[in-house]
Amino acid sequence: MATSAAPSLPHLVPTRPLRPLPPTDGPDGMAPRVDGLAAPLLVGRPNLGDRDRLMARIAEMLDRRWFSNNGPLVQEFERALAAHVGVRHCVTACNATIAMEIAVRALGLRGEVIIPAFTFVATAHALRWQEIVPVFADIDPRTHNLDPDAITRLVTPRTSAIVGTHVWGRPCDIEGIEAVARRHGLPVLYDAAHAFGCTHRGRMVGGFGRCEVFSFHATKFLNSFEGGAVATDDDALAEQMRLMRNFGFQGFDHVTHLGTNGKMTEVCAAMGLTSLEALEEIVAVNRRNYLAYREGLAGITGVEVIRYDPVERNNYQYVVVEVDPDACAVDRDALVAHLHAHQVMARKYFWPGVHRMQPYRAEQPNARMLLPHTERVAERVLVLPTGQQTSPAAIAAVCALIREAIVVGAPAAPASH
Ligand SMILES: *Cc1c(COP(=O)(O)O)cnc(C)c1O
Repeated sequence: MATSAAPSLPHLVPTRPLRPLPPTDGPDGMAPRVDGLAAPLLVGRPNLGDRDRLMARIAEMLDRRWFSNNGPLVQEFERALAAHVGVRHCVTACNATIAMEIAVRALGLRGEVIIPAFTFVATAHALRWQEIVPVFADIDPRTHNLDPDAITRLVTPRTSAIVGTHVWGRPCDIEGIEAVARRHGLPVLYDAAHAFGCTHRGRMVGGFGRCEVFSFHATKFLNSFEGGAVATDDDALAEQMRLMRNFGFQGFDHVTHLGTNGKMTEVCAAMGLTSLEALEEIVAVNRRNYLAYREGLAGITGVEVIRYDPVERNNYQYVVVEVDPDACAVDRDALVAHLHAHQVMARKYFWPGVHRMQPYRAEQPNARMLLPHTERVAERVLVLPTGQQTSPAAIAAVCALIREAIVVGAPAAPASH
């Protein structure tokens, strides 16, 4: 993964003229490599639990010669997940996208489903893959999550459900969304890919709506290399999803349902169980990093680190910065370019918004008219590297780079160097 070559920069189109940033490797050393930044710093670098525990689990698995098909590690992982979340069922799958597709089909959704455009593209694809039209509702710019009032305006006779995404692990306005859903008799599902281990009003995410879908992709808080799960308290729904993820097989020869192959493998469950055991350590590191960033970026006008509610449980997996181009002379894209030039691979999320990605862009060319907050937030958000591989020294260096870009780029600070 690591490379010593300079990363290629994304194609940048500044929204307005910018003051030039300082040279990144100039002889005057305006932006020197700082200690802690020897290697590229990546967003979503995987966390790893106890290596010996993982290897022991894999050795046992190899001895058993049971590698897939609802093996003992998958069963153990499902029980541990359900206990952690406090739900009756966590039905694992090979990834969250397939898990979502299975949940959507098991619930019999069709026609239109209302979702945010400020989400990962898989939320929309899992629907569109089944010929369901995702209808994009705008977000609340303060929370980055679905705005219940925006949902209300989009309900039609074809609407079959609402899917909310708990962006950054901060739960949606669940009460607001469910009030709209009740009024129209619609089921609610949640894309909880970011939100494993988080609470809403003291209750674990996973127990809301008809079901919630977690991702255990390598970049996520709880990782099983690849993986996902649907959490639900609905016994019949869980049973149907278990059939669907295994071709519809009930027993050896009896196929009772249309199905697909969505099974999690044993080696993934081994990783998932090992990650689950390390969760408290990973939260502690993430929280330390988040607080270090907040401290390091404090007082920079126009740069805000988004907040996590301290009375809830959070996983602090995402350190998210909003850059206000009106308050500082450098916009988000210029800041990303500056960081990339210094091997800090900060990422724009979920830029440019799912409604601007294909096939949605072509199919719904006017969607953006109803998404002003989505478009604005997507222009401002920046995600910074964190996790076990990001040291406090590296964070101090990243904060210094951001401060430098903002201050040097700012017209009001001509004499600061
Ligand atoms: C990662 C992610 C997904 C997809 O998860 P996979 O396990 O990679 O399929 C879906 N939605 C959101 C919001 C995500 O962040």
